[in-house]
Amino acid sequence: MQNTKSSKQFFEKAKTCIPGGVNSPVRAFNSVGGIPRFIRSAKGPFLYDVDGNEYVDTICSWGPAIVGHANETVISAIRESMNLGLSFGAPTEGETRLAEIIKKHLPATDMVRLTSSGTEATMSAIRLARGYTNKTKIVKFEGCYHGHVDSLLVKAGSGLLTLGNPTSGGVPDSFAAETIVLPYNNLEKLNDCFNLLGDEIAGVIIEPIAGNMNLVKPDQDFLKCLREQCTKYNSVLIFDEVMTGFRVSMGGAQEIYGIDPDLTTLGKVIGGGMPMGAVTGKKQIMEYLAPIGPVYQAGTLSGNPVAVAAGIATLTIVTKEDFFPKLTKITSEFTRELEKIAKENNIRSFCCDSVGGMFGIYFRQTIPKTFEDMMDSDVNFFKIFFHEMLANGVYLAPSPYEAGFLSVSHEGEAITKILTAAESSFKSINAKKNK
Ligand SMILES: *Cc1c(COP(=O)(O)O)cnc(C)c1O
Repeated sequence: MQNTKSSKQFFEKAKTCIPGGVNSPVRAFNSVGGIPRFIRSAKGPFLYDVDGNEYVDTICSWGPAIVGHANETVISAIRESMNLGLSFGAPTEGETRLAEIIKKHLPATDMVRLTSSGTEATMSAIRLARGYTNKTKIVKFEGCYHGHVDSLLVKAGSGLLTLGNPTSGGVPDSFAAETIVLPYNNLEKLNDCFNLLGDEIAGVIIEPIAGNMNLVKPDQDFLKCLREQCTKYNSVLIFDEVMTGFRVSMGGAQEIYGIDPDLTTLGKVIGGGMPMGAVTGKKQIMEYLAPIGPVYQAGTLSGNPVAVAAGIATLTIVTKEDFFPKLTKITSEFTRELEKIAKENNIRSFCCDSVGGMFGIYFRQTIPKTFEDMMDSDVNFFKIFFHEMLANGVYLAPSPYEAGFLSVSHEGEAITKILTAAESSFKSINAKKNK
């Protein structure tokens, strides 16, 4: 039995002063049960908890740790920046350098505004879409999550799916009423919506590869149609690439699918593990932002120099030519092996998919295309598998609706450990079943 004594004690104590003992709901293990592991440190592909257990990490801080935890180059860039002061409330040269790196690699980017989180980025992007078009309605898609922005917490994916809330308390109906929710990958409903309400639609926000209802890829035609309708009705197309930006490829999902969004939101990887987000996009829209435009947007710690240093160091590694081919190969070979092991052990409701350094494990027979597909998976089997894997030293996302993330540091030993753990987990599940 794994020792979890200290995690348990810390969790009990945390619950007395932090709601649910955590500062972001999924960390509480609500959908899998058991004791959330309190983490003391991380290095490369490994996490170490307060009881001294080692885990192969398949979350990578929900994406950012793409070059591995505590990467020497990133840490020394942070240290160097820290020594010069933590925050100035005035512009720094690093912000421009980071903006230039983003602009160089993300096709649809003329300008960049930095924020401190992905939520701030999406919130600012929809305000900008409304300010630019003078229209009010925002379209989003079922199962897509765009941070905890009031009007976007409608049918919003993993965290909320796990809690079983279709939407969140504290969001007035009148806010939610400005949000139109459509099914992902459904061309017909998309066309119907624009034909009926196109003149009122300020913008459409979408995860161009969905990663908050596990991993769900878009149909090319669906994204293409979305672009055409937005152009026709002068609605702002917002690609929320907070998760996929610098994670699925150097130029994000927009590069993979060849679609040109008006605005793109970023977060996660671009901060290299420090708090960071960004709204990026076309000059004529971005210049609606204050101080030159009428749409207000600000932040005391926006463009924080230490976070910017972490971002620049991380993106410098990620944008090397061989980085994505390598990460993509590590990830796709991993999921192929995992499927093979499941098959060899007669696990039928199981399949995988991946893109860049992001993967999905599905407890169903076929790869999901929609939110409904995703909901139709064997959640109980997932829970059992999750705990078997954890006991075998592999930290999977504690929800069947989350995607998984690898880093380049997973190559070799860490991947072998996950596959070995999966094999013994399947065998142990089968043995218990046959008893
Ligand atoms: C994580 C995420 C967000 C929110 O970012 P935070 O930094 O958690 O506020 C928004 N959109 C997508 C697609 C995300 O995955």
